[in-house]
Amino acid sequence: MRVVLLGPPGAGKGTQAQIIAGQLGVPAISTGDIFRANVSGQTELGMKAKTYMDAGDLVPDEITVAMVRDRLAETDAKGGFLLDGFPRTIAQAEQLRDSLGELGHRLDCVLELVVDEDELVRRLSGRRMLVDGEWVQREDDKPETVRHRLQVYREQTAPLSGFYDSAGLLSRIDAIGAVDEVTQRAIAALEQSAAGRSDGPDAG
Ligand code: AMP
Repeated sequence: MRVVLLGPPGAGKGTQAQIIAGQLGVPAISTGDIFRANVSGQTELGMKAKTYMDAGDLVPDEITVAMVRDRLAETDAKGGFLLDGFPRTIAQAEQLRDSLGELGHRLDCVLELVVDEDELVRRLSGRRMLVDGEWVQREDDKPETVRHRLQVYREQTAPLSGFYDSAGLLSRIDAIGAVDEVTQRAIAALEQSAAGRSDGPDAG
């Protein structure tokens, strides 16, 4: 299956992506994780991305799109994938559709995790990552940056919901609740969309 996980920062995309991808038997591909690994490794890509990330801005499409195209060409992603944090702009979504189309593929489902903004701010300000045995706050989880990231989401990423709805690919689920409850809703939505597709005019 080829799935995109859509949702604002703090919706739990990273956690759900790992679990759902494990159940589907496809790799979870997180652009945020790839960028962070490059920042830690001080690669050229990491150095280009860091200023945008620290400010809570999107890394420019030309950098991000090329990176994802390379990642999707790797062997483990040939049979399917779950994308977490990509696409984040309409331009990225169009590029993804075109590069999948060139390979004769298309997305199967876009799963949107829905969480209200007060809950997002609460979650992000309390979030910590384990780095070298210590719990640290991500630079971009500082309160001022969180507000900016949510604004960037509203302006640049939220329109993807309508984009994918028009393409008949969108399933929205309530992402408030225990992790395993949200996973169950996600899996049910994916099964429903797979069933819908096999009933539809394009079946086969
Ligand atoms: P995330 O871990 O998904 O919250 O991503 C952390 C940061 O990485 C974002 O705030 C952006 O600066 C950058 N980033 C991740 N994915 C993308 C993307 N698809 N387009 C542009 N920037 C991205």
